[in-house]
Amino acid sequence: MGKLTQPGETMPDATPLTPGITSGRLSAETLSQNFDDLHPAYAPHEAAVAADRCYFCHDAPCITACPTDIDIPLFLRQIQTGTPEAAAKTILSQNILGGMCARVCPTETLCEEACVREAAEGKPVEIGRLQRFATDTLMRAGKHPFTRAKSTGKSVAVVGAGPSGLSCAHRLAMHGHDVVLFDARAKAGGLNEFGIAAYKSTDGFAAQEVDWLLKIGGITVETGQRLGQELSLDELQNEYDAVFIGIGLSGVNSLRAAGEEREGVSDAVSFIADLRQASDLSGLPVGRDVVVIGGGMTAVDAAVQSKLLGAQNVTIVYRRGQDQMGASRFEQDLATSKGVRIVANAQPVAIHGNGAVAEAEFEYTTTKDGTLKGTGETFRIKADQLFKAIGQTLEGAPEALKLDGRKIAVTGAGRTSVKGIWAGGDCASGGDDLTVTAVAEGRDAAEDIHSTLMGGK
Ligand SMILES: Cc1cc2nc3c(=O)[nH]c(=O)nc-3n(C[C@H](O)[C@H](O)[C@H](O)COP(=O)(O)OP(=O)(O)OC[C@H]3O[C@@H](n4cnc5c(N)ncnc54)[C@H](O)[C@@H]3O)c2cc1C
Ligand code: SF4
Repeated sequence: MGKLTQPGETMPDATPLTPGITSGRLSAETLSQNFDDLHPAYAPHEAAVAADRCYFCHDAPCITACPTDIDIPLFLRQIQTGTPEAAAKTILSQNILGGMCARVCPTETLCEEACVREAAEGKPVEIGRLQRFATDTLMRAGKHPFTRAKSTGKSVAVVGAGPSGLSCAHRLAMHGHDVVLFDARAKAGGLNEFGIAAYKSTDGFAAQEVDWLLKIGGITVETGQRLGQELSLDELQNEYDAVFIGIGLSGVNSLRAAGEEREGVSDAVSFIADLRQASDLSGLPVGRDVVVIGGGMTAVDAAVQSKLLGAQNVTIVYRRGQDQMGASRFEQDLATSKGVRIVANAQPVAIHGNGAVAEAEFEYTTTKDGTLKGTGETFRIKADQLFKAIGQTLEGAPEALKLDGRKIAVTGAGRTSVKGIWAGGDCASGGDDLTVTAVAEGRDAAEDIHSTLMGGK
């Protein structure tokens, strides 16, 4: 196997064909082209033409399909009439992370799938790109469109500065509460900063959006504060009038295949976090023959980004049929268009190699009476790097809170089993592990906290 380089170290003369895990497979120029914006921004005249395709439907199905219930026909009309900042305010009043959601939402399975022009012509109004046009226009102008209500004298601890925590903190601050936003990591943003594919959130947008959101005032961010270590739930309950928990899913599932500990086998989520934080992508090592196990967005993102970093062969292996993959058809097509191979109906059996991974062995699967079973027939794929992307798990939830399956049990707008404590986003029961849903849940919990603190409930 080839040389393992340290992040930041570039191997001279490496190419996509160099064996092993190495950095510097592609030139800086090619890398910058590869990781360019997935959906380039609209120019103002293009946006006006695109918005003009909207029929401004009564009872618009696109609104129902949006987890944050944005008034889509209203903001499209505002763009069409040349008032993109008003359009942005329409979006942000429902979804304060409307800028990020415009970049990362699987619109093809949400608003754009529901758009009547999709049903009629197979070409929906490009709601996501238009949302981005509006929010980018307002953010570029450095404006924050909301102001805080008079101070209520109440304080709320929000734990986790990902989409759910940020959205909850902003809405609480708007209502006049003082918020302390704690996060275990050194930087706020959650998976917007550490998880979303680099070509969806370019030019440091996640950090810019956090800075912009904090302009509401009344939110203090405390990083390096982990619930269960530096923070305890008891202390937070004593010190604050309410607590919101939005800690996401920071654990990862294991493969339970022999040889999982071999060098070159790692979590897709950690690889993606390193990629998102790398100041120079040519210093990031990647294998020549990369295998990714899983079928969700994380698997697709790890595979596509490995390819874009210069891996020669990248294969996603998923245990069920391709139509059951968690990643949308758009994401799957993106992967195959970049040269990623998708092998469906195969489950990992063993990781082979002498110290480091050299091959991954799989067994074909079939589904009988609703149960997935191995057929007994196996095959091997060459691999010098293997990423596990078979789901994230809840870690660090306080013991006092009841669980529902593997998530924190909540009812209504995020109420947990303990009075005064709310939860939302990926860590809480009932969601669908999307950025936009986390934003909606954080916002709704904030409204419920507000009315509870003000004596309404
Ligand atoms: C690789 C990847 C790609 C994705 N791509 C997309 C996409 O393209 N589109 C999409 O809609 N969704 C995508 N998702 C899903 C989306 O990122 C999540 O649904 C969303 O980030 C959930 O928000 P959250 O606030 O619940 O949690 P997170 O974003 O996970 O944020 C949780 C925060 O809590 C902090 N934290 C964790 N434990 C503690 C603790 N004990 N104490 C204090 N702080 C703690 C973490 O540091 C983090 O900042 C992706 C997910 C992954 C993993
Ligand atoms: S469904 Fe499509 S055409 Fe109708 S209001 Fe929504 S975006 Fe416009």
